[in-house]
Amino acid sequence: MKQVVILGATGSIGCSTLSVLAEHPEQFQVLALTAATGVDKLLQQCLAVRPRFAAMQDSVAAAELATKLKVAGLTTEVLSGEAGLVALAGHPDADIVMAAIVGAAGLLPTLAAVEQGKTVLLANKEALVMTGELFMQKVAAHGATLLPIDSEHNAIFQCLPLAFQQNTQQATLQQFGISRLLLTGSGGPFLTRPLDTFEQITVAEAVAHPNWSMGQKISVDSATMMNKGLEFIEARWLFNCQAADIQVVIHPQSIIHSMVQYTDGSVLAQLGQPDMRTPIAHAFAFPSRISSPVPPLDFFSLQSFTFEQADAARYPNLYLAMDACTAGQGATTALNAANEVAVAAFLAGKLSFNGIHQINASCLNRFLTYQAHALDDILALDTETRAYARQLLERG
Ligand code: NAD
Ligand code: MG
Repeated sequence: MKQVVILGATGSIGCSTLSVLAEHPEQFQVLALTAATGVDKLLQQCLAVRPRFAAMQDSVAAAELATKLKVAGLTTEVLSGEAGLVALAGHPDADIVMAAIVGAAGLLPTLAAVEQGKTVLLANKEALVMTGELFMQKVAAHGATLLPIDSEHNAIFQCLPLAFQQNTQQATLQQFGISRLLLTGSGGPFLTRPLDTFEQITVAEAVAHPNWSMGQKISVDSATMMNKGLEFIEARWLFNCQAADIQVVIHPQSIIHSMVQYTDGSVLAQLGQPDMRTPIAHAFAFPSRISSPVPPLDFFSLQSFTFEQADAARYPNLYLAMDACTAGQGATTALNAANEVAVAAFLAGKLSFNGIHQINASCLNRFLTYQAHALDDILALDTETRAYARQLLERG
């Protein structure tokens, strides 16, 4: 029986994870669930899976959860704050940690799981974008197993030879006859919207993704295609390759989740419904397979598959991220921080959709050549970039 910790249990990925695990009670037991706030949702989840531990980032919420659990007759121990999340992520009894907190808030808990040599299922792409090299060094140094949950990276992983999958740290694309990773993306809700109307894009329009149901931040990132940019950087680290080895391909139907091109002309693709429960089930069972609640793909009901290039005028954030990836670790840390501030401002109605790119571009320009390798330097650059982005927002 594998003991599972779910960081970010109440989010979109957290709920999908619980839905997959519910089909396999004989193989997986939930040791701990965590969330930021939102007591009632976490309470419901605790009542369903009766974990030994729960944690909430917010201490007032944690106290409320503890009281409600007691009234319900559960013995679940409740921890709080970042220290509580870190303690559960690295708990000695945990085998598998689902890292599904959104944004930089997930970094320290995810690193704690890595440092304890856990099997880490990575949804929290921002953690890897912020710390790439350091993160991968820690995976190697502590013997952690890192499995990608992001559907594109999970697809690429599935299309790699077993020997590569088992040694993603040192294996090189060249060694396995791989010429390119083809990272697919739907293009989001604004693939065909006239560019001169982008200034009027509302929050409701931006979070309404045509194919995927996700949290608010990643939904906005999908609309700007910063999500694909973050994924580009994520792929560079997960698969030990360089920016030149990765090509972004727009595939609006979201059935092909990414591909690997080999030097003999073969292209391997992973296909499936746009439903995160497939990559989640894959990673929990790897290298075996388990069932998931996702219905099988019915080829006779599919539309045709189409492909196109990502237009730089429509998706400038994608190109910023590709530039940052080439520039280095400081640039990717800064861009991620800027984007988190900008997207939060957009969601709060304080910044236009186009404003997200303006903030991101100004911050990247300012911090492009910064280098940040140690964790303290990375966290300091993250803080400095956020302060600069907020100044830009205030100036308007
Ligand atoms: P979400 O907003 O639905 O959920 C986020 C979770 O993190 C919630 O449980 C929330 O309580 C918790 N959280 C937020 N801030 C926190 C903080 N400061 N401290 C502790 N916990 C905090 O987000 P999501 O869509 O589930 O995405 C989670 C991560 O997975 C993101 O990094 C996202 O990019 C990635 N991802 C999501 C999808 C998807 O389909 N939703 C797909 C691929 C990758
Ligand atoms: Mg993705």
